[in-house]
Amino acid sequence: MLMVMVGSPRVDKVWARGMVFYPVLPHSSPVKHLSENGVLSRFWLYELTRPDFEDWLENEPCPVAVIGIGSIEQHGPHLPLGMDSLAIKEYVHEVARRTNSVAVHPCWPGFSPHHMGFPGTITFSWETLTAVLMDTIGSLSCHGVKRFVIMNGHGGNTQVMNLVVQQAKREFGVMVSAPMGPAGTELAKQLADRQKRHWDVHSGPSETGTALALFPELVEMERLDDWEVTLKLDPKLMAFLDPDRKDYEVVSQVYAACSQPDTDDFTSSGVYGKNDPRDADAEESRRRFEERVAFVAEFIRVWKTIPTPKAFQ
Ligand SMILES: [Zn+2]
Repeated sequence: MLMVMVGSPRVDKVWARGMVFYPVLPHSSPVKHLSENGVLSRFWLYELTRPDFEDWLENEPCPVAVIGIGSIEQHGPHLPLGMDSLAIKEYVHEVARRTNSVAVHPCWPGFSPHHMGFPGTITFSWETLTAVLMDTIGSLSCHGVKRFVIMNGHGGNTQVMNLVVQQAKREFGVMVSAPMGPAGTELAKQLADRQKRHWDVHSGPSETGTALALFPELVEMERLDDWEVTLKLDPKLMAFLDPDRKDYEVVSQVYAACSQPDTDDFTSSGVYGKNDPRDADAEESRRRFEERVAFVAEFIRVWKTIPTPKAFQ
């Protein structure tokens, strides 16, 4: 979704999500290739021509493909079904832009069987999601890409992603990584604490803040007008969600062992959590976006300084 803004007489500018300005050349201008001497000016793989891709592959000293996966699943009454994929696309694109990488979003759905009790959810089986990722990495590895980063916007995909990281290395002889972090910043600690204390996992303030920061036009906050906490768990289990307990390490795992498989088993609104999504803070989410993007971009920068190990040559 692009919004044309008033530009100079020679070059109009277009605003795209991620706060990036792209020049749009008038038709009469000579075409500028989207990869020049290995330097990309657009980052989605599907927007490049084959010669652009070849130019990037040949001239970028250390080509990296950044792959994003998310989901299409219920996100409470107020967030779009594509929340996780919409968000990860923003992350992946911005990381690719900062690192001269190619961005790939191979599929919209993820692994979401636990949300099928709510209409609108599309789930892939774990086998399908595994196959999508393996085929994506396998295809690009055939063309010579040796380094892959996977970014994930949906907790349900985590185990599949981690398996693919291992499996793709073995099968295709390429490096695959799913960098996590940063975990040590003040903001990261604050968010982790909120998650532990209030189980702010799904469609709560943290995720709502991300949506308000990245695609506010798709959020319908007024649908929360009469909203009340709908999380229904055994009170004894609820008490386990207290990180100040001395036995938290044990009871949090007992809690996980007891958590029911389907979302509609324990929430009627589709929102998990004991806190209120209306407390979302878009500014906080913007800072987390910047932290995470900067972390993964730095990961790629450092990674590129390491020569390709023998097993992957
Ligand atoms: Zn989500």
